[in-house]
Amino acid sequence: MPRPVVNGDHPYVFAFGAQTDGGAEMRELLGGKGANLAEMAKIGLPVPPGFTLGTEVCNYFYDHEGRYPDTLHDQVSAALDELEEQLGKRFGDPNNPLLISVRSGARESMPGMMDTILNLGLNDETVEGLAHETGNRSFAFDCYRRFIHMYGDVVLGVHAEGESEEEPFDLIYRSEAARGGNIDFVELADRYKNLILERTREPFPQNVIDQLWGAIGSVFGSWRNDRAILYRQRYGIPATWGTAVNVQGMVFGNLGENSATGVAFTRDPATGENVLYGEYLLDAQGEDVVAGIRTPRNIAELVTEMPESFEELLGIRDELEQHFRDMQDFEFTIERGKLYLLQTRNGKRTGQAAVRIAVEMQQDGLMDDRTALLKVPAESIDSLLVPIFDPQALSANEAVAHGLPAGPGAASGKIVFSSDSACLAADRGDKVILCRTETSPDDLKGMLVSEGILTARGGVSSHAALVARQLGKVCICGASGVTINYEDRVLVVESSGGKQIVLREGDDVSLDGSSGAIYVGSIKNIDSDVHQVLTGRLESTASQNFRLFETLMTWADRHRRLKIRTNADTPDMADQATTLGAEGIGLCRTEHMFFAEDRIDHMRKMILAANEEQRREALAELLPFQRRDFYGLFKAMAGRPVTIRLLDPPLNEFLPQDEDIQTALAERLEMGVGFVVDRIEALHEQNPMLGCRGCRLGILYPEITEMQTTAIFEALAEHGKDDDALIVRPEIMVPLVGFRSELADQVAIVRRVADEVMRSTGVEIEYEVGTMIEVPRAAITADEIAWEAEFFSFGTNDLTQMALGLSRDDMGSFFDCYTSKEIYSGNPFSTIDEIGVGRLIEEAVQRGRATRPDLKLGICGEHGGDPASIAFCHRVGLDYVSCSPFRVPVARLAAAQAALQEL
Ligand code: PEP
Ligand code: MG
Repeated sequence: MPRPVVNGDHPYVFAFGAQTDGGAEMRELLGGKGANLAEMAKIGLPVPPGFTLGTEVCNYFYDHEGRYPDTLHDQVSAALDELEEQLGKRFGDPNNPLLISVRSGARESMPGMMDTILNLGLNDETVEGLAHETGNRSFAFDCYRRFIHMYGDVVLGVHAEGESEEEPFDLIYRSEAARGGNIDFVELADRYKNLILERTREPFPQNVIDQLWGAIGSVFGSWRNDRAILYRQRYGIPATWGTAVNVQGMVFGNLGENSATGVAFTRDPATGENVLYGEYLLDAQGEDVVAGIRTPRNIAELVTEMPESFEELLGIRDELEQHFRDMQDFEFTIERGKLYLLQTRNGKRTGQAAVRIAVEMQQDGLMDDRTALLKVPAESIDSLLVPIFDPQALSANEAVAHGLPAGPGAASGKIVFSSDSACLAADRGDKVILCRTETSPDDLKGMLVSEGILTARGGVSSHAALVARQLGKVCICGASGVTINYEDRVLVVESSGGKQIVLREGDDVSLDGSSGAIYVGSIKNIDSDVHQVLTGRLESTASQNFRLFETLMTWADRHRRLKIRTNADTPDMADQATTLGAEGIGLCRTEHMFFAEDRIDHMRKMILAANEEQRREALAELLPFQRRDFYGLFKAMAGRPVTIRLLDPPLNEFLPQDEDIQTALAERLEMGVGFVVDRIEALHEQNPMLGCRGCRLGILYPEITEMQTTAIFEALAEHGKDDDALIVRPEIMVPLVGFRSELADQVAIVRRVADEVMRSTGVEIEYEVGTMIEVPRAAITADEIAWEAEFFSFGTNDLTQMALGLSRDDMGSFFDCYTSKEIYSGNPFSTIDEIGVGRLIEEAVQRGRATRPDLKLGICGEHGGDPASIAFCHRVGLDYVSCSPFRVPVARLAAAQAALQEL
């Protein structure tokens, strides 16, 4: 199809409407909104025509200090001419004015983070034309004052300066409304223009072309506002994607009682139920619904208010799902009885809804199991496993108010009234519930650290609900019995009995985001119903969530190649992990076995020993503890593989630093106080993480490695005698190796001791010895190291620490600055820094397998539970990932997604 550009020029502008240049497949260039508007126009859905400035323009804009490509002006003006022709109106014409909206639209939707301007094209003259054309002067001036407000706020920067200042336009609006009677919009528009003159010393711009370019510049500019940056960091959206700008002919939902505007979802985004879900406002413009200022009506009521439009919406719902094959979140406007679609996108949904929608869409034949698996963000599976309120505790409490259940789950915490207080309290370790009259995109940082969100106003598609759903936060909105007074920092609940309850910042409150009930105080949690079924405490038939979980996990296991192990040090952790599907232990940190009260003193005695003889004596005391612990672990793992890491941390981590405790310790161990203090002093290191730790301990004190190996093999021999079929095949892992000779030293000890135990017990045990790869030198000399190692496990915590020269414990002071400057795209300790650390891993994989083709490869750093890092591990050919027990379901799903993405 021809594009509305001068022939031969690079196209920056793409039309949709009578002629459509783009489609859904062009979202990188057109952004999600632009691509889907084009797609809807193409399949004949009722979309007001318009055009999209592609994301390339945004990148150009940032690369050239806010300038545009040379041909852009001509292309926009050609597209505008065409729009005028289609709609039979002219931009800036006082008799028949074309009005447009200017909206952002990135590749991934970033709800509310960037700017939007409606009713553009109004000025002192065209507003009269609009009044004449519609025969409704009040409507025309309402549109005009809305436009001045949005333009003033977004383009001219007229807004509240701090958290405590009220929005200046809202203040004027309220003072006008307080006069009683109908609002005089002509007067209001004048007062808004005066406010702009006062604040900016310039009159409100009357030239519509200037208005258009002002709006376009601001929307591109909003790609780099603080909240958009924060949002991108949270969701890993690269700054280089840029946003598109959509210019579209206006339609009006505020043209009286046969007009309306609304937001609807093709399925319930909170629970996933297969019903049309949403809300609308009669006689209103789009932003009224999402702004949370008027609480909109449930979409089901439209059936009585506008039965024909409701029927039409039901048809559109089916058409959208059949075409886009996913749950859609769409905006509509009814202008004097005629229905228009203003956008559609894949709807944000809670984790629970994501799972239910994917499973049910597969069952309805809308997608196959592969697609269904790819539709569920791996983290979502967690939401089926989070604790719920204890029904008994709940029945002992009475709800004091109700709101709309916008984000399911149970949350208790202390009330906070602002994002800043939320962050401060969360830094202190408090659990908080952010309570706001309504939330705005600026509240994102407070929402991120809160357990739950409560708003007094706004519906299920308000900003609070939208963001909470996406973050997986518990959320109740539009709680009509609740009033929040920011000045006095109180939340007042008017209960149905006429009783008033006053709650202050810091008071405890509980939210049931599944029912919308609000409780005073903190309510006890219990395991989720899925957990209860998995552990045999509830019948599977009693839990729909369990059936969804089971179905999705079965599909995931069918498609994944990576094995999933867990990092576990105790039989309890091992049980928890295997219940959730772990296939082995990828890391048992043996040092954790020494911290319990009944053994820490033996450990300290070993560390403080003045010579080998004393050290061996203390190790002999530790041996039975270790043996018992390993026995428990092997029994719990019932034949699955178990990787046991030899002692790793610097020894002074086990020693008390406090003088009184040192004195008490000296008495208990019958050692001189001076001796103990001197030994602890002598063990002090400047950089313990780079000091005497890891394999260096076992090389310096071979008797430690001997004791641990003895304990492992004696426990196995005992276990083998009990149940030969379920004997574990252990993998003994040497930490912090950088040189082949280091590993060789330790492997020799392990093999010698293993032989001795097998000879003395008469039990034959198959085992492997390998190493962690967590020192860059080990990664780049992996071909040498592999001569000694039967497996590698990537310790990406230390590998990241050492590759980036970045202490995981000391990055707090500059991490925020680094992320806000987008120097780090994310936290390198959460998601593998693929370009740096990832290359070391790839190098080690290649070199290791060159020496030993059957080398087993895994990962046991925290990254082993992170979906993006799991995808990386799949791509570079690891055999397994190992993660904390509660991350196992996420890892199963992420591993399947990684395999499917490769197809
Ligand atoms: C690692 O470094 O990735 C690792 C698993 O070891 P630790 O976190 O115990 O240092
Ligand atoms: Mg480590």
